[in-house]
Amino acid sequence: MPGKNVSTAGPLSPDEVALRDELRANVQKLAGEIAERNMWHYPQLNAAADFIEASFSRAGLRTRRDSYDMSGQTCHNIEAEIPGSMQGATASQPSHLPIVIVGAHYDSVFGSPGANDNGSGMAATLALARRFAGAKPKHTLRFVAFVNEEPPYFLSGEMGSLVYARRCKERGDKISAMISLETIGYFSDAPNSQTYPSPGLGVFYPKIGNFIGFVSNIKSRALLRRVIMLFRKHAKIPSEGASLPAFIPGVSWSDQWSFWQQGYPAIMVTDTAPFRYPYYHSSNDTPDKLDYDRFTLVVSGMEKVIEDLDKL
Ligand SMILES: [Zn+2]
Repeated sequence: MPGKNVSTAGPLSPDEVALRDELRANVQKLAGEIAERNMWHYPQLNAAADFIEASFSRAGLRTRRDSYDMSGQTCHNIEAEIPGSMQGATASQPSHLPIVIVGAHYDSVFGSPGANDNGSGMAATLALARRFAGAKPKHTLRFVAFVNEEPPYFLSGEMGSLVYARRCKERGDKISAMISLETIGYFSDAPNSQTYPSPGLGVFYPKIGNFIGFVSNIKSRALLRRVIMLFRKHAKIPSEGASLPAFIPGVSWSDQWSFWQQGYPAIMVTDTAPFRYPYYHSSNDTPDKLDYDRFTLVVSGMEKVIEDLDKL
């Protein structure tokens, strides 16, 4: 779904400026202060988990740790839920309602402070959760921070999001949409700043990395189309979308994959990471590399998408 490009509109609104400040502070905390956070830096991984949980709580959200054990060390996915108000739900059985999940991984790859990957996605999840904290959605809304997305857990049974998605399936949760926010803060206007996993795609899509990407597998394409349509209604930043076979490099590279494994519709929002970002998975993935204005426009666009998804 190559898109007609909108040009990025003028200065940020006061709301957007506040959102930008919040995103910058979250990225700074995760990638600047805590920095590398993974099983080799276990205290930092837990410091990130504590920060995320405190941030959800401060927003007034009910949080839950979805924990599991890995070689004697406990790992935590962290969930904040806003129960849906649709008819038929009861306080004791809110999970029978359709659930919309917005999530991001909070670990960073070995050797990297992970500002864009995935301080950006996590910062956005926290900011969005705070914006919906007072809402009365029809659907149940969940904001989830996933642990252990990066190798060697990537696409394995020890990946945090797969543990989480399996438990959702076992409980019978009806997940109508899962949105994975993965590396969403880097943009460039330079010629040929955008590459693709296969040369064929480069024929249809832009060669300038100034857009935000929406990606799904073939089975989730109805959700992908709906999200892109809603995003383009509001967003002030160009977008491109593609439903592709999951084996194409990059398509499965985040937590949406875990939900596909359990048969749930899921999509990824991404700046395309390794196909654009020069500091991907390196020690130079630091907070100063992000384009906070355009990152903000992505997140404010996603706020509208989540609002509109709830009306359907
Ligand atoms: Zn990542």
